[in-house]
Order: sequence, then C-alpha cells, then structure tokens
Amino acid sequence: MTIKKVDVHCHVDQYSPNELETIFEDDSCLVVGAATGVDSGERLLQLAEQYQNLRVCLGIHPEKPEGYLERDRVTAQISANLDRIVAIGEIGLPWYCLKEMTASEKTDMRKRTDELLGHFLKLARTSDLPVILHAIKETALFALEQLKEHRIERALFHWFEGSPPDLRQIIKSGYFISISPDLMVNKAYAEFTDNIPLDSLTLESDGPWEYDGTRGVPAMIEATAACLAKRRGLDPEEILKVNLDNSLKLFGSESLIPVKR
Ligand SMILES: [Zn+2]
Repeated sequence: MTIKKVDVHCHVDQYSPNELETIFEDDSCLVVGAATGVDSGERLLQLAEQYQNLRVCLGIHPEKPEGYLERDRVTAQISANLDRIVAIGEIGLPWYCLKEMTASEKTDMRKRTDELLGHFLKLARTSDLPVILHAIKETALFALEQLKEHRIERALFHWFEGSPPDLRQIIKSGYFISISPDLMVNKAYAEFTDNIPLDSLTLESDGPWEYDGTRGVPAMIEATAACLAKRRGLDPEEILKVNLDNSLKLFGSESLIPVKR
C-alpha cells in the first residue's frame, strides 16, 4: 500500500492493544512514535516489530522533572538502536511544568534541561539524525540557539505555538513545524498556523492527547489536513502531499519509507 498520510508526532506507546489494532489497520498511514523516556522507548521499539507502519524516535520528554536521571540509559538505548530509529525525540525545553515550580526549582530544571538538550543534540549531530523538539512559546529561541551551536540541520518544532516573530526565526532557519488537531477546536491556534508556510509544515496528532474531549489518534491527520486546506483555499490532498514530502525531507526518505528489496 502506498503511504498517503504521515503523523509526524504521536505517543504510540500510550495506546491500548485494541486502539493499536485500529490505528494500524490503515496501511496508508505512517506513524512516527515519540518516546518520553527509556521505558516508553523500549515499548515503541517492541511495537515497531509488530506494526510495519510505525517509526520510532527515542528521547526524554523535557517536561518530565526527573527525566535527566534516565540520560545514560536513553543514550545507550539510542546508540544500540541507530538503525531502528528515525530521529531523537521527544527532547527540548520545559515550559508547562515550570509554572508549578518555585524559583530555585525552576533554575535547577532549566539548567538540567539545557544540558540534556545539548547532550542529545550532540548525539544527533554525530549520528546524523533529525530531532523532534518540544520547545513552545519563548523557549523556542533558546532551542534555536542550541540547534545552531550544534549545527543541527534537520529539526521539527512539534505543535509549536508562540509569537509570529519566533515562528519566523524557526522558518528562516529551515526547520519544520508540525500542526496538531487543535487547529480544529482552537481559534487562536488556527489563526497562528496561518503564518506557517507550506514549505515548513507537517501534521501530527500528538495522540493520545485529547482535543475537546476526543482522544487524539493518527487518523485525525486527515481531518486536520481538510481543515487546513479549507483555511487556505486548497485541496485536502494537496496538504497531505505537502505533509508527506516535508516528512520525507525531515526524516530522510530511506528511513521513513524504506525501499523494498
Ligand atoms: Zn509529544
């Protein structure tokens, strides 16, 4: 079956076995699973043995306060599975979890996640892998600085939501941004996405994150593409094609859709 849809960011390890069966019934949809830590990564690697349309990224979610403790194990996991993964992720900088922290906790968390991001970017550079970033709002500029410092060429700012000037910096640097189904339920976010040019966009579900009470799944890529197409006066097929082409650029066509030999 030809691949038509790509979900560039989904927490596939968080679904139930029944949900997984339904998700992978559609063999025209390729799903890129992002790990949040070592166990989540292990589960993704196992699932990829079972489901041929699942691709794996390994990393540590930056909003996980104790995530840094898994650094060495995740590093070993990445090094041992270089031929089985398509990117390093989900990595990045925290924003949400800082809100509930005291000033000194914040400083500690920022310092640790800064170091952790630098560590993974170094690894991405030496392994020639793209990175999937969680760096929303003003943290994007700090992430951009680090990307430049480590000379990272391929990066995705997943579900980036921030200021239009920061968005322009990401685009100018040649990195991609993925648009989530929140587009369909959040007017402010939908208007923000109008600033993302076709050359820079991809689509994600970030499932099983819920949208207005509906559990996110990769199948939502289709409705997201339709909604985006309507906003831009385009055909939904065109958006799906752009998403596929940009995903191939981001992950590399060989690792995303390997040629059958
Ligand atoms: Zn995520």
